[in-house]
Amino acid sequence: MILHADRQGNPEHGVLHKAIHPSVAYGYDDARELAEVFQNKRSGFAYGRQGNPTVEALAQKVTLMEQGLASVVFATGMAAIGSTLLALLRAGDHIVSSAYLFGNTNSLFATLKSFGVEVTFVDATDVKQVEAAVQDNTRLVFVETIANPVTQVSDLAAIGDLCESRGLIYFVDNTMTSPSLFLPVTVKAGLIINSLTKYIGGHGNALGGCVTDTGLFDWNSFDNIYDNYKNREAAHWGITQIRKKGLRDFGASLGPEAAHHLSVGSETLTMRMQKACDNALALAEFCQQHARVKNVFYPGLKNHPQHARATELFSHYGAIFSIELDDGIDCFDFLNALELVVSSSNLGDNRTLAIPVAHTIYFEMGAERRASMGIPDSMVRFSVGIEDQEDLLSDFTQALSG
Ligand SMILES: *Cc1c(COP(=O)(O)O)cnc(C)c1O
Repeated sequence: MILHADRQGNPEHGVLHKAIHPSVAYGYDDARELAEVFQNKRSGFAYGRQGNPTVEALAQKVTLMEQGLASVVFATGMAAIGSTLLALLRAGDHIVSSAYLFGNTNSLFATLKSFGVEVTFVDATDVKQVEAAVQDNTRLVFVETIANPVTQVSDLAAIGDLCESRGLIYFVDNTMTSPSLFLPVTVKAGLIINSLTKYIGGHGNALGGCVTDTGLFDWNSFDNIYDNYKNREAAHWGITQIRKKGLRDFGASLGPEAAHHLSVGSETLTMRMQKACDNALALAEFCQQHARVKNVFYPGLKNHPQHARATELFSHYGAIFSIELDDGIDCFDFLNALELVVSSSNLGDNRTLAIPVAHTIYFEMGAERRASMGIPDSMVRFSVGIEDQEDLLSDFTQALSG
């Protein structure tokens, strides 16, 4: 059904792909209709920054994948997170966030602090830590499903119950699992963010991000909605404000060509995820029994602290794993010895990529914060792709024997 979503609404010539619509502006025969579009009384397009038919078709696909109510697509995953928080929060509000965060999200939260939004970082693998941090002015709890690079799995279901009982927005970053492995709506998430750049797009050829409203949060109980956005039923207030205050006013809009790439990529999400997760499990198991690897971090391994939780919640254990090399091995030498695996910062590509995390994506954070996140200097993170498993295993074998 999701695969066929592009054919909704009898497209021109019976095309199977949603057309790439480059037009920035939209003409109306009846000027009254144009006014109604501006006033949210009629659906339609007014100006490319606020909406585009190709981008909208992608948003609908993600909404279907996440079994949500509605989505807004942005130029990148970071734009989706930043614009959403700036659209919904005000100075004096408080967020509780997982301490185990994507590096740029961590940096963004520091910026929010300078604008008067308080942020408390907690160990979100334990709901008690989240609960202890909730204050009178707490508005929102932010977690990732599987965290980068140590692969902690948040206490997703219990935090959902907590947010429900305390009336908090539960904002889940589903990028690492994607809707193919996990549906945050099943643990009562109110808002979901996916970096489309990663698994949903899957080919490393386009950036994009998406915020989905699951329909579970009661926007009626949220003081920060502007009156202008209350002219439809309350279920739509949040996503309307995200579209207007977030997408329209900050302007991080996705282009139609990128939306087309991401949409085509999304067609094979489930097949790619299966293969990548199988490869990741095989490589993680291989590394775990290898004498030159000190530690392996992967939710699919039985000694992972949240292995049982991951088994219960996710259909597979993800395609990211990290290793800590033995003391005698330089992580740069090891990376250079890999022939098939590429040293690269992206994740969710079809190709297997590796990165020395302390020296790159977590460098700016500083040694102290890295230590608190459990990131040693010799850690290498892998984003496992869909290559033949034999090829990957033999590349690891030769690189580790060097
Ligand atoms: C990559 C990533 C993001 C940001 O996505 P971009 O599309 O690169 O802006 C956010 N969260 C997680 C978990 C990510 O891996």
